[in-house]
Amino acid sequence: MAVIDTHIHSEGRSVEDLKFMAENGIKKAITCAFYPIRPGFPETLIDLARKLTEFEPKRGKRAGIKIHSAVGIHPRCIPPDWQRVLDFIESYSGYVAIGEIGLEDGTDVEREVLKAQLLLAKRLDIPAIIHTPRKNKVAILEKMLEVLEEMSFPEDLALIDHNSVETVKVILDRGYWAGITVQPGKLSVEEAVKIVEEFGDERLVANSDTGFSESDMLAVKKFYDACENERVVRKNAERFFGI
Ligand SMILES: [Zn+2]
Repeated sequence: MAVIDTHIHSEGRSVEDLKFMAENGIKKAITCAFYPIRPGFPETLIDLARKLTEFEPKRGKRAGIKIHSAVGIHPRCIPPDWQRVLDFIESYSGYVAIGEIGLEDGTDVEREVLKAQLLLAKRLDIPAIIHTPRKNKVAILEKMLEVLEEMSFPEDLALIDHNSVETVKVILDRGYWAGITVQPGKLSVEEAVKIVEEFGDERLVANSDTGFSESDMLAVKKFYDACENERVVRKNAERFFGI
């Protein structure tokens, strides 16, 4: 069974790791923009977008995994003069989504950058992968939903990620898509399976967020083995991202 990991940071993994994922059934993935230190220059994220779109798919191909890219400004990676990054992204192509974007602490600058990126996704008519933080998840999610609603962001283009059992319901109730991240410190396989049982599988997608830190590269495959739900590990991602 071929599955799709909808949120990874492939540049944090070796070709051998990607091969290991492919050999275990993870045949497609979305690699999301994140820079492990706060970038000092907008050019850092411009080149990151190019790297994720032009180079990472090549490494994926060697490993047997089809990698698509999501580009943008993660809330922990806002550089000075950030509008230049968005101008570049708008002039560029080859990516399937804007992401990962979102709020981390919920500051005014973060909100401004999030809003600008959502406007860009809306204008380009492509999906947005929206991160929720580990800390104050519920309160920060409320702030994010305010931003989305203020600008009437299309529900069908918003994937709100890294959900906890508490946040899934409010997201699905409002018509957005919800990502379930199976990773130590986020959700266990058992918790992820419980979410699907409780809330249905219509607008849920699974991912590992594997990348720069310790994580389980095979999380989506293990989740599939536990629940055998093809929609959450593949069909929904194909529909949402058009991949
Ligand atoms: Zn991530």
